[in-house]
Amino acid sequence: MLDAAAMDTREVRERTPVLSPLETGATSLLPEPAAAEAAPAATPSGPPPPLPPGREQRLLMPSTPWQTPLVATHSGREGARVLVLGGVHGNEPGGWLAAESVAEWEPSAGSLLVIPRANVVATRAFERTFPDLGDLNRLYPGAEDGALPMARMAASIIRVVREFEVDLVLDMHESWGFYLERGANTGTAFIGQTVTRGDGPLPEAFVRDAVSAVNTLITPREELTFRGRLPQPAPGATPSPGFGGQPGGRSTSSLSIGTHVPGVTAILVEMGQIEQAESRRRDLHMLLAREILTRHGVL
Ligand SMILES: [Zn+2]
Repeated sequence: MLDAAAMDTREVRERTPVLSPLETGATSLLPEPAAAEAAPAATPSGPPPPLPPGREQRLLMPSTPWQTPLVATHSGREGARVLVLGGVHGNEPGGWLAAESVAEWEPSAGSLLVIPRANVVATRAFERTFPDLGDLNRLYPGAEDGALPMARMAASIIRVVREFEVDLVLDMHESWGFYLERGANTGTAFIGQTVTRGDGPLPEAFVRDAVSAVNTLITPREELTFRGRLPQPAPGATPSPGFGGQPGGRSTSSLSIGTHVPGVTAILVEMGQIEQAESRRRDLHMLLAREILTRHGVL
């Protein structure tokens, strides 16, 4: 943990102002979505103008126990803006190790933003999370004044998505069992090696094709399964907790980000931990991230 003085210095150094969509004068010619909630930021129809090239780092929730870096690398060229999340759950190291490596990649177009350890306290403890922190992947869109720190972190992440006009969120997780080996097991413990797409404009075929391309590069056991869109529970059914479904059907996982910020699509990846080395889980996350970022024109 940084001492207070070091933290202050770091915070000042890393707090680089970036113009918000409103300040850059971005406007939308698109019609307002029906029943738009709380008038989300306008979504430009094309890529936003490029941000000045270079890498900036800032802290989310600075000067708190939950402060964690956001690394933003801008190519200086027009293109997509992707946000990669790792460490949303602290006992899923394959995801945050991959995210830390992705944070060092250089985009050839657009911008690459990475929050390698979104729940940094949980990653240090190697626990999924703690009750007094809350589960970040059940708290979107969060609340700036939420009682739970991870509700405030969810709000910080949504703010980053809006400010940088992110169009794709890639959230790296781990499960225990492999989905194709689940047998009669259901729920979050057996969704390893799956890729799920949330609401948003990114075509399903984009994700499906990226998964297929990666599957040609890996072993049969490692094969990834595309699980389609965010599964909606049947009317009256008790929703699976797998992706944050809640009674009433509204998801609060990262897959719901596209329902809160127009123009964004989230992809949630789960690697299986059972009999699969941590380094391999990390590498598989990176392989899929590279495929998605390349197809999306960022690498
Ligand atoms: Zn997780």
